[in-house]
Amino acid sequence: MAWRMRIAWVPALSLLVSVITAPEVLGADAAGGLRAMCYAPVELQARKGEERPEKRRHDYDKPAAARALATFEPIDPALRGAIRRVKLPAGSPKLIALTFDLCEQHGEIAGYDGAIVDYLRANGIKATFFTGGKWMRSHGERTRQLMSDPLFEIGSHSEAHRNLRLLSGAALAEEVAGPQRSYEAARQELQGHQCIAQHATLAERVPSRLSLFRFPYGACNAQSLKAVNDAGLLAIQWDVSTGDPSPMQSARAIGQALLRSKPGSIAVMHANGRGHHTAEALPLALPQLKARGFEFVTLSELLAAGTPEVVSSCYDSRPGDTDKYDMPMLSQQPLAKRAGDKTTRDKVTGAKKAATKE
Ligand SMILES: [Zn+2]
Repeated sequence: MAWRMRIAWVPALSLLVSVITAPEVLGADAAGGLRAMCYAPVELQARKGEERPEKRRHDYDKPAAARALATFEPIDPALRGAIRRVKLPAGSPKLIALTFDLCEQHGEIAGYDGAIVDYLRANGIKATFFTGGKWMRSHGERTRQLMSDPLFEIGSHSEAHRNLRLLSGAALAEEVAGPQRSYEAARQELQGHQCIAQHATLAERVPSRLSLFRFPYGACNAQSLKAVNDAGLLAIQWDVSTGDPSPMQSARAIGQALLRSKPGSIAVMHANGRGHHTAEALPLALPQLKARGFEFVTLSELLAAGTPEVVSSCYDSRPGDTDKYDMPMLSQQPLAKRAGDKTTRDKVTGAKKAATKE
């Protein structure tokens, strides 16, 4: 049973629901209360082993069924390009957006790192999850839980985590549009559920369309960037790279990267089981950031609070450093290691040699 009416909670929380006017003003307690109305704790919490990706699974490779999609407008000229961070006005609160990618390729079922989500919920920390279209289908229940949670926002992480720099035509279009079909199907299921439907604050807060997009590998070119912006999606990169897909990246190092955040920063991490020490890193860094006066917000809240800093290309730490993922062997990795990482550098050198038969 995926859903449950939390009857015992409803009378106590009905007054609370009635006085809430907008999701963004929800405090941690209110968010937890709303969530608890439709989910039992055992349904939400991490399950052992669920974080581990499974190889040789093709169950969800088939694209989502065609459907009439919600209407949209292309992105305005001023916001076309890759958004790396947000410039906040003087006197603004010190806002940061934590983002977690949920990457999934064909031939696998990626994980769901429940320890990360549990920590965020337990501490009332807002975050944005960039979910692959395929990930949404292979993790239907987790997708609906994240979508309906007042703490979280959902963005698109392409259909099947292909390198969009290498695609064109129908293949490129599918990586951009595929997640929207999965998202709208999940939203429809969510709103058709009896408990959620009875609590408008939960149901209505889920937008009809995805509005944010993160490129797999952080790699784009002019053509793919145009395709994303034309589809009404803002391209969201980051200015805080934690390097968490590398098993060699310790929790301490991820934490130190997070502590280098500035007001207006966007930090990238992974919650698909390939952020190897991410769950351990959060308690090391986030309380410190909070003590320094930082406030965690969703991406949309961060964007609305200031002026997005837009650049014309996608990169990890410096322009051009994600071009190496154009080599197929490196595109099999879930996301860029940091540009200066020696192992990656060696692989690139080796791949170049292999490609040119030097
Ligand atoms: Zn990814």
